[in-house]
Amino acid sequence: MMSDGLTHGEWSEAVADGELLGQRCPDCGAVQGAPKAACPHCGSTALETVALPTEGAVYTETTINVPPAGVEERGYQVVVVQLGDARVMGRLRGDAVGIGDRVALSDSITDEDGYVAPVFEAV
Ligand SMILES: [Zn+2]
Repeated sequence: MMSDGLTHGEWSEAVADGELLGQRCPDCGAVQGAPKAACPHCGSTALETVALPTEGAVYTETTINVPPAGVEERGYQVVVVQLGDARVMGRLRGDAVGIGDRVALSDSITDEDGYVAPVFEAV
């Protein structure tokens, strides 16, 4: 079976529309939170596009105190959120969160390199 080919552009458009897409590997069951050419676990290219939940628990977080040049914010939290079987990295807005806290997709941002990133907020 051929991959249905979720592209980064399609993934980014979905994020901007408030949806999170992932890819499920039919061969080993692994789920990715961002488009990949092949399953990182088993190498299968028969990946299926799936909709991910938009609310989940913080898997890990880190605070960026020195943002890259061009970013006006002084500091922000980056979170990896467990959404169903997938983990998705995004920016946190609003109240700080810790590991295990519930967050939901609330917005998206386009960073200085033109990449779209999901924005999560505590729920
Ligand atoms: Zn796999």
